[in-house]
Amino acid sequence: MNYVDLHVHSTCSDGLVRPEELPNLAVKVGLEAISITDHDTVAGVERGIEAGREAGIEVVPGVELSTISGETDIHILGYFIDWRNPELLSVLETFRRKRYDRAREMVRRLNKLGLNLSFDTVVEIAGDGALGRPHVAEALVRENLISNSSEAFDRYIGYHGPAYVPKYALSPKDAIRIIISAGGIPVFSHPGTANRDELIPGMVRDGLMGIEAYHPMHPAELRRYYINLAKKHGLVHTGGSDYHGEGRGIGQIGCEMVPISVLEDLRRCLRMRRV
Ligand code: AMP
Ligand code: FE
Ligand code: FE
Ligand code: ZN
Repeated sequence: MNYVDLHVHSTCSDGLVRPEELPNLAVKVGLEAISITDHDTVAGVERGIEAGREAGIEVVPGVELSTISGETDIHILGYFIDWRNPELLSVLETFRRKRYDRAREMVRRLNKLGLNLSFDTVVEIAGDGALGRPHVAEALVRENLISNSSEAFDRYIGYHGPAYVPKYALSPKDAIRIIISAGGIPVFSHPGTANRDELIPGMVRDGLMGIEAYHPMHPAELRRYYINLAKKHGLVHTGGSDYHGEGRGIGQIGCEMVPISVLEDLRRCLRMRRV
């Protein structure tokens, strides 16, 4: 059996592995293809594709866009997007700016709570990455203000934490439209964590083409459920590890054993939209 991993993060967002190194890691665990799907950025796509060429593994261009519906975070994956599409790039630039302001606001709130965290440390840890809560958490650890990063989420920057600041996000409908107009296939990312399946029919009307079924947060029966739900709506199903690097996130690269037929289905979907 041949396997792929269609959900991998790099240092361009909140992953710990550089896009240049991901293809080698993937080859080591025997994968046939990966997709680099960073949060709200495509900065790692070309770097990953080039490294993939050298390592002899396919790297599918991808992105994972942040959207919000009511109070729920809904992530939308975009596969085979044109990462040079001007509209996509301009939306991603807005994300970058807003994430910077948001991280600064979280630091301000932490300071008010008596934690002497410097914003510079957060920026340094994020490097070129799309600034996110994992970077804030790691900065708190580095400055010895907490003992590990899950403490940051539990006490301060988790959803209802005192220093939590919501993210700038699109509506699912806008994210779907932007992905489609950049030539990509929009896929509902880890729907089990959103627990808002009632949104799916509307998203399908807006152009959703797939549902992520294989994901570390989905137990086996949920995986089967989403594969069937995708079939019911005439969608493809996809999957991946949501790998963020050692000690960050829960999945190891390749852990989801996603059959290569999933990638073939995605490609078929891509051909169908182009006729
Ligand atoms: P952000 O996009 O800045 O809101 O950060 C979201 C990221 O934080 C997710 O992609 C995870 O990598 C990480 N994350 C969210 N909740 C937790 C948690 N409770 N513990 C550890 N990491 C988390
Ligand atoms: Fe993440
Ligand atoms: Fe996600
Ligand atoms: Zn992800």
